[in-house]
Amino acid sequence: MSNPSILILAGDGIGPEVMAEVRKITDWFGERRGLRFDVSEDLVGGAAYDVHGVPLADATMKKAQAVDAVLLGAVGGPQYDDLDFAVKPERGLLRLRKEMDLFANLRPAQCFDALADFSSLKREVVAGLDIMIVRELTSGVYFGEPRGIFEEKGERVGINTQRYTEGEIERVARAAFELARKRQGRVCSMEKANVMESGILWREVVQAVHDADYPDIALSHMYADNGAMQLVRQPRQFDVIVTDNLFGDLLSDVAAMLTGSLGMLPSASLGAPMENGRPRALYEPVHGSAPDIAGQGKANPCACILSFAMALRYSFNEGTEADRLERAVEKVLADGVRTPDLMQAGDRAPVSTSEMGDAVIRALDAGL
Ligand code: NAD
Repeated sequence: MSNPSILILAGDGIGPEVMAEVRKITDWFGERRGLRFDVSEDLVGGAAYDVHGVPLADATMKKAQAVDAVLLGAVGGPQYDDLDFAVKPERGLLRLRKEMDLFANLRPAQCFDALADFSSLKREVVAGLDIMIVRELTSGVYFGEPRGIFEEKGERVGINTQRYTEGEIERVARAAFELARKRQGRVCSMEKANVMESGILWREVVQAVHDADYPDIALSHMYADNGAMQLVRQPRQFDVIVTDNLFGDLLSDVAAMLTGSLGMLPSASLGAPMENGRPRALYEPVHGSAPDIAGQGKANPCACILSFAMALRYSFNEGTEADRLERAVEKVLADGVRTPDLMQAGDRAPVSTSEMGDAVIRALDAGL
């Protein structure tokens, strides 16, 4: 049997720097755990524009459709800000998401004990936090028609349409229930069924999918505004949260900040299963290309490394190895190893991006 395949699209700014550390980790799993991957690399974003005149070449898109998982660094940078909208670096990422039909966006919010003081909330509220937000990514108000700015009775009116089909709700609900089975077995679905018909349908469909196929999962429903409050009041009450595109956009950013630094946040975007049973999948850190620190060895590679841990868990069914990698990152942080974004008064001197990667490798070795 051939090795599982990964396409690395490092992108722009700090993308290549943090991805270089992920390469160390993939090599480690090959050498020390016999988990070999066929890794190929290609261009996305500004880097692709510079060579091909487009932020994602057709050949790269084809490769992304053919591999088992795509790992992306980050795209964008000030030198591309004035480009035509159609060829902006972000369009490369949007094309990947759209053509791979990645409808479930997974955003974990996990608080490593060593970083609990970075949260804007009290340590006792966030310590040990481990929640997963599943955001519907390809439909809803960001895509619904009609949309636009129109003239009406002598003034302009801006219109966007919240629209969900039963099928779109069902598939993201299934993704959330499947995840919950690998976690603590609880799903909270959030919408605004009190004021929106799309919310009423959302609630009905999620409940029906649950009753038919996932009776082992504890399902609850919450209005999304209350959900936002509960996230900052008592975030540990949640295991998996499933919600639509708009609410998910907001709630996942709130949950992310419970945990501190942008340099620590991974994400996954999953689509329907391919012929081999693996979901179409793209893994990427939540942060952008950070042009302010690019090329200086200051970037924290943990978000990208933890995105690879998600790939191990969700694409390659290697949950034990994903745990191993997450534990190694946790140990490095507990040992006080810090990139500049994680520094607090009294900390010893920060390490560089590659020193952080090396420290994770040492922790992996120590954990064997
Ligand atoms: P950003 O996430 O790149 O940076 C925000 C701040 O966080 C910066 O001060 C940066 O130095 C810091 N930061 C981010 N990641 C870090 C890391 N790993 N380690 C240490 N510090 C880190 O967001 P921005 O500045 O708003 O955007 C910069 C560029 O990135 C823009 O071109 C934007 O369009 C693009 N962007 C891309 C993505 C993506 O590729 N998914 C996401 C967001 C922004």
